[in-house]
Amino acid sequence: MKKVRAYHPLRQLMMGGNPNKANKPKNKNVAPLVEYLVSHKIDPETFNQLVQNINGQVVTPFDASYNTGRLESDNAFNKYPLFIIYCNCSADVSIAVKFCRSENLPICLRAGGHNTAGYSVLDGRVLIDVANIKGIFVDPINMTSTVGSGVTWGEYNHELNAYGLHNPGGSCDTVGMAGYTMGGGYGYTSMKWGIACDNLIEIRMVTAEGEMVTANEHINPDLLWAHKGGTGGNFGVLVSMKYKLYKLKNVWPIQVNWPIEDAAEVLFTWQNTMTKTLKDRNLGLLGFLAIKEISKIDKNGIHYTINQPYFCIRGIYSDDNSTAGKKALEPLLKIGKPTYPAGTLWKKQITYSMANQHLLDNVEGIIPDDIKETKRCAYIEKALKKEDYQKMVDYFKTSPNPYNIVSMEPYGGAINEIKSDASAFVHRNAYFDVFTDSFWMTDNEKDEAFSWLRNYYESESMKSLWSNHYYQNYVNDEYKNWQFGYFGENYPELQLIKRKWDPENIFNFPQSIEI
Ligand SMILES: Cc1cc2nc3c(=O)[nH]c(=O)nc-3n(C[C@H](O)[C@H](O)[C@H](O)COP(=O)(O)OP(=O)(O)OC[C@H]3O[C@@H](n4cnc5c(N)ncnc54)[C@H](O)[C@@H]3O)c2cc1C
Repeated sequence: MKKVRAYHPLRQLMMGGNPNKANKPKNKNVAPLVEYLVSHKIDPETFNQLVQNINGQVVTPFDASYNTGRLESDNAFNKYPLFIIYCNCSADVSIAVKFCRSENLPICLRAGGHNTAGYSVLDGRVLIDVANIKGIFVDPINMTSTVGSGVTWGEYNHELNAYGLHNPGGSCDTVGMAGYTMGGGYGYTSMKWGIACDNLIEIRMVTAEGEMVTANEHINPDLLWAHKGGTGGNFGVLVSMKYKLYKLKNVWPIQVNWPIEDAAEVLFTWQNTMTKTLKDRNLGLLGFLAIKEISKIDKNGIHYTINQPYFCIRGIYSDDNSTAGKKALEPLLKIGKPTYPAGTLWKKQITYSMANQHLLDNVEGIIPDDIKETKRCAYIEKALKKEDYQKMVDYFKTSPNPYNIVSMEPYGGAINEIKSDASAFVHRNAYFDVFTDSFWMTDNEKDEAFSWLRNYYESESMKSLWSNHYYQNYVNDEYKNWQFGYFGENYPELQLIKRKWDPENIFNFPQSIEI
């Protein structure tokens, strides 16, 4: 499967530093901009001070880069912020927050721009963007790293590989570490070392007053608790994160495909042997139902293609001992007719980053670059029967297009060992998180994409499969009772922390913690 476009609207800025810095206009007092500012009740002089005072840059609708800068990773979202403040450092963020407060302007926040409901860019708000706050400082003696809130997982893993060190992280290189960690953060090594936020030991944040604060076990522990699963955009602007590190040099990549007929049996066996009761935590797997194109030739020699649904498990084994790895995976490989699209297993150990890329490159299927997407999820918290998994598979076969994917993230191991109130991340008793990406190309396919996805989770035949919890990193406008769904019994505590740190609710979005 072609990777969803590995493109970030700010890529140019990120790669080349700040290309406009040298030419930064002394004065942005050009007539249309002044008119625009005044029409939004913004004092042009205060705006000019903002432009001059920050190290980063301000991009308005009158700048050529506004139209790419306002986009998010999903083409489905098309919002128009008032203007964009690209911050290069904490000081810039502080100036930006103070400016918005003094001018009484609504704010939205963006790091990697991968929010699945488009909440990081909102119409008519000032977009404070931290993607240029880079910097990865690895401390191999104390086994920690401090990371700027603009760093992506691809950038971070590249650096950690050089040290042979690791944090549980995402498999998509362009996802921002900030948003990902604040919402939990699931990755291949989560069963072994927990999700990303379980390994977060300190944060630096700019408050609603524009002040910088640190939160760790000893200082402002409530704020650290809330950043471990309480999601971004609620308490302040995160500027850096400090993580606990683990040693991880090389891994065995694993990718196994099964014909769709074997999928329910594999899922059922997986649930019973390698989720809550997982014995060998070196095994880190993700599963998905997808569709590949098969080329055929008819009796007249004409080439044609058919869409063929299939089931895939991909992941890693993170110990050198391949004999133990083979044993751990054996219960699944005994089922049906497995094939190996990324090559024979247990041939070569490679770095975590290489394994991640190798596995993505070998996913079969096609996703066009300009496609649009909506995503939903639900947890499986009571053990399902094989017939239930068959329902999941059968519904998937009704996909209106060849792009849709249903993915399974197994829970158990280190994730489920943590108490559900030890951090804001409450989901500690699941077998799987099952998330579905539903795609559309043209506007007239959109309704069908939404209703197909809705029915995957809400139709009479499907709804009994799921608990009423949702993984808060896969946000969607349509969830019912999202407060309980994302945060369960931890929601009232999050509200208390919200009231303490942002009493005027300046950090808000459609599903932000309510005061
Ligand atoms: C292609 C893709 C792959 C994904 N893969 C995984 C995966 O493998 N595992 C997983 O767990 N999740 C995954 N996710 C979900 C992802 O972790 C979340 O969408 C996450 O919130 C994205 O973080 P971001 O920084 O890129 O997004 P953003 O949209 O920039 O931010 C997410 C939220 O945090 C807020 N925010 C941004 N910056 C700050 C800041 N500095 N301070 C405070 N709040 C801020 C935003 O306003 C928004 O509400 C994936 C999503 C996509 C689209």
